[in-house]
Amino acid sequence: MDSGFAESWVPEGVDTTVASPARVYDYGLGGSHNFAVDRQVHDEFRRISPAAERSAWDNRAFLQRAVRFCQQQGIDQFLDLGSGVPTVGNVHEVAQQHDPAARVVYVDIDPVAVAHSRRLLDGNEGAVALQADMRHPDAILEHPETRRLLDFDRPLAVLMVAMAHYLNDADAPAAILARYRAAMAPGSLLVFSHITNEDFPEEISRGEAIFNAHLAEPMKARTRAEISALLDDFELVEPGLTYPALWRPDTPLPAEDDPRLSACLAAVGVPRG
Ligand code: SAM
Repeated sequence: MDSGFAESWVPEGVDTTVASPARVYDYGLGGSHNFAVDRQVHDEFRRISPAAERSAWDNRAFLQRAVRFCQQQGIDQFLDLGSGVPTVGNVHEVAQQHDPAARVVYVDIDPVAVAHSRRLLDGNEGAVALQADMRHPDAILEHPETRRLLDFDRPLAVLMVAMAHYLNDADAPAAILARYRAAMAPGSLLVFSHITNEDFPEEISRGEAIFNAHLAEPMKARTRAEISALLDDFELVEPGLTYPALWRPDTPLPAEDDPRLSACLAAVGVPRG
């Protein structure tokens, strides 16, 4: 590892010279589960775009409001895809605070994110963390731990917050979403957000280049129309596809605030028919 010491939270086999989205995001949120290369990517991006700071915080706040919204609709089970390194206000904390029986399956491809999640969830009967690639929905939906905790005959929330830009066009993201949608009983909700190049195309394109020079797998920002198309099979609840900070804020945003600075778009949707 970069300090020269094998720290206890670094799972064996992790290449500490390659950045990971989970650890870059963790650094952006002030976390400590990241390496020098992750901090370098974030700091380079921060030099060219305010989105580096704003995006992660706005997405976390959106995720927490959206989980509460799902609970108000009667949902008590959550499948969090690309859940990240745990930080303040994780899905199970928000959900179980209101309903101790709420159940959560966290999924992330990143071994550091999953190892830290497992430590945090030790002793929590209602939540589990799986290390898996969400591009293989069947493996996740059929996983014995998923089946143990989630009842697919009842409504559930599927979360894809700040993660779908890690699906490239070659991954056929619409088909992946369709597979998860097919597993969602009536009354289920999708909680979704995605990096957009709609408002600041040059900055975001330079940001993409920084990320993609250091990440094992590339990321892809999309336009509003492209993100909206990914959500075609979902009826979006009010206010539709918007900046995370504008999705049902607890208090109105100050007039001088510019929510576009997150460079993200967010929505919550009900599967159509
Ligand atoms: N959803 C969390 C949030 O909003 O706070 C974390 C978002 S973080 C920017 C994106 C996460 O997606 C990272 O933890 C990354 O490891 C994960 N990820 C990227 N591609 C993935 C894949 N194919 N399968 C599972 N997780 C993936």
